Amino acid sequence: MEHIVIKGARMHNLKNIDVSIPRNKLTVITGLSGSGKSSLAFDTIFAEGQRRYVESLSAYARQFIAQMEKPEVDSIEGLSPAISIDQKTAPRNPRSTVGTVTEIYDYMRLLWAKVGKVHCSICGKMLGKQSASQIVDTITRMPEGRKIFLLAPIVQGRKGEHVKVIEAIRREGFVRMRIDGQIVTVDEDIRLDPKKTHTIEIVVDRLLVRDLQTKDGEVNANRTRLADSVELCLKKGEGSLIVLDAETNGETRFAESFVCPEHPEEDIPEIEPRSFSFNSPHGACENCHGIGSVLQVDESAIIPNPRLSLSEGAIHPWATSASRTGFMSQVLGSLSRKVGFSMAIPWEKLEEAIRRIILHGYPHPLTVEIQSMKFGGTYQTTYEGVIPNLERRHSETESSYMRTQIEEYMLELPCAVCGGRRLKKEILGVTVGGKNVIEGTDMAIDEARSFFVGLIPVEIAKGPSTLLRTGELRRANDGNNSQIALRNSQITDGSMNHRSACISATTRS
Ligand SMILES: [Zn+2]
Ligand SMILES: [Zn+2]
Repeated sequence: MEHIVIKGARMHNLKNIDVSIPRNKLTVITGLSGSGKSSLAFDTIFAEGQRRYVESLSAYARQFIAQMEKPEVDSIEGLSPAISIDQKTAPRNPRSTVGTVTEIYDYMRLLWAKVGKVHCSICGKMLGKQSASQIVDTITRMPEGRKIFLLAPIVQGRKGEHVKVIEAIRREGFVRMRIDGQIVTVDEDIRLDPKKTHTIEIVVDRLLVRDLQTKDGEVNANRTRLADSVELCLKKGEGSLIVLDAETNGETRFAESFVCPEHPEEDIPEIEPRSFSFNSPHGACENCHGIGSVLQVDESAIIPNPRLSLSEGAIHPWATSASRTGFMSQVLGSLSRKVGFSMAIPWEKLEEAIRRIILHGYPHPLTVEIQSMKFGGTYQTTYEGVIPNLERRHSETESSYMRTQIEEYMLELPCAVCGGRRLKKEILGVTVGGKNVIEGTDMAIDEARSFFVGLIPVEIAKGPSTLLRTGELRRANDGNNSQIALRNSQITDGSMNHRSACISATTRS
């Protein structure tokens, strides 16, 4: 099928037209305002493509989607499920990408949040997360008859005597603790070297792995005690727990939330779809606010001609005739008298230290003499410097004209914190198929297609009950219109390989 063949289109003001549009090509529909471009693209082709797709879904999925009217057309052949990008809704947001505008990124966020693997952003170690009952289950599967200790980590490699910590453990009635790997009882005389780092854990319980499996609804006292101790341990250890095997001295660490055992200071947030959004403070890199780049004043743009002197207008942003006679030039004049430099020699002949003061500011008070039509006298101020002045006005101004003017003197540099990847480093540590979400968006379409298809048996198919239910996905999403449910199922039912996304866009006046 090489063409989409439309016969007898009569939506709105379309006059029963026949048209044939080549597939897999970029087609532009042009014409006068009101000639029916949108009626053809959106209300006929896209509407019919969507309607057919909805009809192909299960009754369960269809209940979430508004039933679509059949467009007034005799026939359309060669149609694939369609995506429509409405030009009017494309926001002028510096964070927008093709992925966000087409909403494909929304499904990626959902996918990464649901099946992504979390890694420590410092050492790259993959981190697990377990509930208290999962931890209990793991312990019950340990070899029968093993003697184990449940430890709650309290101090992890911190310098000091920790007198108060030890006192609190005694007061709470615990009998043993482990200090720097040695189990001690609380009534021993414990003195720690204040100049060394120490690790302290409470011994919450000592248990034998015996009779821990429950038999058909029976209450198992051993298991109940284990569950209680695990709960207490997690509470004391703020979500962390260590199982120490008394025979082998082997340790297994468990965490209720994502914590790297080597880097417990890493604060890994709850992984939710919004965590992957660079439009949300939950996900956006804090340095560039999700834009991926930062604007920095460019010295060579401020001083385009270093052969000019200050009085000839060497400082380009202050070189307009108004600024040359205005307040800034008078402040600069006072500065030249106070610091001792000439306004009449070329910029390039000024000492480096003087140039730095002019560009970056002079923090000491200056007395400026002002003679103008309205005001004469002296004025106390400090000299702000060309670069801080531009930066401040750029962030304070509400005029987009002014901002654009100032940006003439600025360079866009990749954000040093996220490397232009827009998201917090903790979020960039979440991977699906070995890629973080930004690497996922960086793939070319062909590569992306085989990547996502390749994932299906490995990672997605593991959780069909939670992942493939359209209703679930719909609730998991921020918005709740029928489009979202529709496209969710397009991606998650694994049909991306045979449903090509036909992108229709029209120009509009
Ligand atoms: Zn780590
Ligand atoms: Zn950044």
